[in-house]
Amino acid sequence: MNKRRRVYEGKAKTLYEGPEPGTLIQHFKDDATALNGKKHSLIDGKGVLNNRISEYLFLRLGEIGVPTHFIKRLNMREQLIREVEIIPLEVVVRNVAAGSLATRLGLEEGKPLPRSIVEFYYKADALNDPMVSEEHITAFGWATPQEIDEVMSLALRVNDFMVGLFLGIGIRLVDFKVEFGRLYDNELVRVVLADEISPDSCRLWDVATGDKLDKDRFRKDLGGVLEAYQEVARRLGVLTENPRPKGAGPVLVASNGQKPH
Ligand code: UDP
Repeated sequence: MNKRRRVYEGKAKTLYEGPEPGTLIQHFKDDATALNGKKHSLIDGKGVLNNRISEYLFLRLGEIGVPTHFIKRLNMREQLIREVEIIPLEVVVRNVAAGSLATRLGLEEGKPLPRSIVEFYYKADALNDPMVSEEHITAFGWATPQEIDEVMSLALRVNDFMVGLFLGIGIRLVDFKVEFGRLYDNELVRVVLADEISPDSCRLWDVATGDKLDKDRFRKDLGGVLEAYQEVARRLGVLTENPRPKGAGPVLVASNGQKPH
């Protein structure tokens, strides 16, 4: 059996040592958590869908020149990625008032924001990922001013691209969370997009009906979590609903050599 060293166990993903130095294997689990881990459930098949959706988005973003940690998908649940040093920030980009922003500032859910807003949260489960400003980030050395500029500009590029991509398939990208890492390449250090982008980390509303197609279905006990993720995957064209093309494959033949009715 292939014994791999586990290097990190997260809530929805596990990281294993990769086949070559500087690589890791990112494994997508079916676990869903909310309220900082206090609410937990297994959603059979979620990991498979997130692996596919995230692969698709990272590939498309790579094509427009956004540097990412993604190398290739390995199987249903795993992808090969470059090992990076994660910048300990959750970078949230918002286009429409929802969630904690709507609560904090008393905004009506669904109201378009005057412009896209980028927020930073310090990655610290024990503290409930508090929101922080550039002042905190630089004072405590979590990232340099140059890195913050790079992160901001990449986050906005990711947002512009994804707003258009999702709109094209009838989905409103309300907000999302991304993470970035430092990729060490000899003497060079580059900031690259890391982690994942999936319905676990985005708010995706159907344009026509307003239906939520994301993790809010789990957070708010709306049901149909897997179906919503499947719908996103289907619209992106990454769900193979009928893996066997019509007319192909084995045909049942009765023992008399005739096709059964
Ligand atoms: N988000 C995330 N992980 C977190 C917190 C938020 O992926 O730990 C995503 C969330 O899915 C949403 C966006 O970031 O798309 C903004 O979330 P918000 O700050 O409104 O927090 P929430 O209301 O989800 O607690």
